[in-house]
Parts: sequence; C-alpha cells; structure tokens
Amino acid sequence: MKVGVTGGIGSGKTTVCRIFESLGIPVYYADVRAKDLVLEEPLLKTGYIKLFGKNVFSNNGRLNRQLVAGNIFNDRMLLKEVNKLVHPFVRRDFEKWCQKQTAPYVIEEAAVLIESEGYKFVDNVVLVTAPDEIRIERVMTRDQHSREKVMERINNQWKQEKLREFSDFEVRADDVQLVIPQVLEIHKELLK
Ligand code: ATP
Repeated sequence: MKVGVTGGIGSGKTTVCRIFESLGIPVYYADVRAKDLVLEEPLLKTGYIKLFGKNVFSNNGRLNRQLVAGNIFNDRMLLKEVNKLVHPFVRRDFEKWCQKQTAPYVIEEAAVLIESEGYKFVDNVVLVTAPDEIRIERVMTRDQHSREKVMERINNQWKQEKLREFSDFEVRADDVQLVIPQVLEIHKELLK
C-alpha cells in the first residue's frame, strides 16, 4: 500500500514523516530524490539545460539550485514545465524503490503530490496543515528568508483548502495540537 504525505511549504510534512519512520514505515522523499535524479538521468539533465540554459550546471556538474529557484518562483509556467519534466522520472524511481520494500505500507513525501497528479498513484493521501502565519514564521527561521519571500512561495502553491479536497487524512501540525497522537491514529487506520 502506498501513502502520499503532502502539504505546503513549512506545514511540517517532513517532521510528520520522521514520526512515521520511527514507527518502521519507509519514506521516499520525492523532492530530495528529484535533486539526485537530475544528476543521474542524462535525459533529465538535457531537459534542464533546455529550460534554463547551460549555466544551470556548474563545471563540476552540480545543479545551480539558486538559478533554478530564482527563475521558477517568478514564473508559474516555467514551474509547471519543470514539474512536468521531473515527475515521470520520480514516479519511475519511486516504483522501483517500492519493489524493494517489505513494510505493510510505504510513504511518498512530496510537496506537489496533488498538483503533479501524483496522488493518483497512491492509495491514501495524508495532508499536513498549519496556519499560514505559523508556516511563514517557521520558514523564516529555518531558511533565513524574508517574510515576503516566504509569502511569495506560499502564494505559488495550492491553498490548503483546495489540497484538503484530495486528502483522506489530515495532520494539524500547528502549535495547539500534538502531532504524535494524530500520526499514531492514522498509522492504526492504515494498518487496518
Ligand atoms: P518544506 O516543504 O519547506 O520542506 P515541511 O512541510 O517539510 O517544509 P518541516 O521541514 O517538517 O516542514 O517543518 C518546517 C519547520 O517547522 C522545521 O523547522 C520544523 O522543525 C518546524 N516544525 C514542524 N512541525 C512543527 C510543529 N508541530 N511544531 C513546531 N514546529 C514544527
């Protein structure tokens, strides 16, 4: 069984996934893996060069993530193009990874699971939410970004209300409710 965990920037999805991991559930971190795949897959590399130009890779072969982020956050169409390019590779890699797992279920953590239609390839979706103000504060502290920059990123993603329509479970990772009991409850349901 495949379970997707998603949520907007700073919602707390990685923190929630760490709790699932501590329960013995394997987690595939799609966004982290995507960064490695760009270096491993020649076709993906060519696609990036087409979209961003030669300078997207430095002389030592590393991806210039600042250049990518700087471009896509001001250009929704480009963001869409990058997602369209990367997702088939991630999907294939995730399926390969799944074959090796033996746990009762596995998790795919992805920020754009719904937007990329990746939710169609999993059996259940867990949405992690927190009020926008808390998310802004968290990301400002974690990444040393300005309020404006964080808000810009939040505004470029789908609203939590819209993501909720595609979700089976929700973890409220705010400053009020305890996260661990919510995860335990979902884990129990998923094992059923
Ligand atoms: P991103 O999409 O930006 O990677 P994310 O949804 O994976 O974000 P996390 O990295 O899990 O979010 O959390 C963002 C920050 O908020 C981290 O610094 C984390 O320690 C903190 N955080 C997460 N959940 C909570 C919580 N329930 N209470 C307080 N702080 C939290």
